[in-house]
Amino acid sequence: MENNKKTAAAKDFGGEDKTKKVRRPQKRKVCEFCEKGIAVVDYKDVSRLRKYVTEKGKIISARTSGCCAHHQRQLTVAIKRARNMALLPFKGE
Ligand SMILES: [Zn+2]
Repeated sequence: MENNKKTAAAKDFGGEDKTKKVRRPQKRKVCEFCEKGIAVVDYKDVSRLRKYVTEKGKIISARTSGCCAHHQRQLTVAIKRARNMALLPFKGE
């Protein structure tokens, strides 16, 4: 009787630690353009645009870039314009 109780208790404790996920409180990302008061994203500002493009030339999503919807939309247009002006690559090397 007592043996049974022991094993059941051990089982309960075993599973818990592994399934527990550690979640750190996320630091809130702030839109760079809002912070600096940039109303219109300029396609000629290549040094800034480069930060929002991966090595392969892909545009970074708003989720990772931290941009607000308003500026992310402008940013994608600006990057695409810069590509057509050959300021940014369509495809990374
Ligand atoms: Zn913004």
